Amino acid sequence: MQALTITRAETLKPKPEADKLGFGKHFTDHMFLMNYTLGQGWHDPRIVPYGLISLEPCAMVFHYAQEVFEGMKAYRTADGSIQLFRPMDNVRRLNDSCDRLCIPRVPEAETLEYLKELVRLEADWVPNGEGTSLYIRPFIIATDASLGVHSSHTYLFAIILSPVGSYYPEGINPVKIYVEDDDVRAVKGGTGYTKCGGNYAASIRAGERAEEAGYTQVLWLDGVHRKYIEEVGSMNVLFKIDGKIVTPALTGSVLPGITRRSCLDLLRDWGYTVEERLLSAEELFQAAETGKLEEAWGSGTAAVISPIGEMGWGKHHVTINGGKIGDLTHKLYETLTDIQWGREPDPYGWTVKL
Ligand SMILES: *Cc1c(COP(=O)(O)O)cnc(C)c1O
Repeated sequence: MQALTITRAETLKPKPEADKLGFGKHFTDHMFLMNYTLGQGWHDPRIVPYGLISLEPCAMVFHYAQEVFEGMKAYRTADGSIQLFRPMDNVRRLNDSCDRLCIPRVPEAETLEYLKELVRLEADWVPNGEGTSLYIRPFIIATDASLGVHSSHTYLFAIILSPVGSYYPEGINPVKIYVEDDDVRAVKGGTGYTKCGGNYAASIRAGERAEEAGYTQVLWLDGVHRKYIEEVGSMNVLFKIDGKIVTPALTGSVLPGITRRSCLDLLRDWGYTVEERLLSAEELFQAAETGKLEEAWGSGTAAVISPIGEMGWGKHHVTINGGKIGDLTHKLYETLTDIQWGREPDPYGWTVKL
């Protein structure tokens, strides 16, 4: 493992007020950086004061979006300690994204150590208010100063930290989602299963359209048949239909969410039949119209669980569970957040103490 050097900030920033954190607005005093150079590999892992990154305007990332990222959280437990949730899964997924984008893989064990070291240094930034956490954003960008279209020979790996507020400051309210028929988020063979900025750039327009139509999130269909449900907004989506759990299979255009996997692990443990398969919008709306769609929710690190109360698709409009959060959705939310914030023991070994 290459030695991590630490350069401390000369002055520390004032911490934001616990009830005014929001999401991704405040950043801590330090960040992690590491460079890659072809022939040399990853080198110079370091923690430095949080600050500007200087790049040439022709740096490849600005033009061809050779970039990957991750999203995870550090949680403050009641006894004041700090823990991460399945962090190695994020590091492995970062490397899966790297493979697809032709970015050199990062050393996994070292990366987790660097990340833990950064969070330890910034421990005072992990908030302790109800539902708050320290959001961790690792990302890698292509830095070659060249407009030629090929994979870069140099990269910058950075980790920045942001204290974030509760996702549900006013209590957990079901969202309204809208089936997008025109734009697609990803296609099989593309980058849908990776966390790369390009996927997000392509999804913004549909999100804006859904908002204009009075909905909160987009329900994405697959890009080939324009028929099968894939994800909701930037979350995975799960349904309880006729007592069984149905969620889109990981076909290549769906992001393999760690919250999704945790939901499925819990649900199987609780004795539910879990079907990871193709689910068409037609089947879903039919289930809703015949009363078989009992619950629906999105899953992701930011919200953990986001109940879905209404769905629109063309002239169809359905309400799920009377627009209220379902019992199972609620139980999943409670169970996951109890484990993440250390309120209940973690029988799965998902949490990693700092
Ligand atoms: C990050 C992400 C998710 C959720 O993944 P988690 O590991 O649960 O946070 C789902 N869909 C998309 C498109 C994502 O980018």
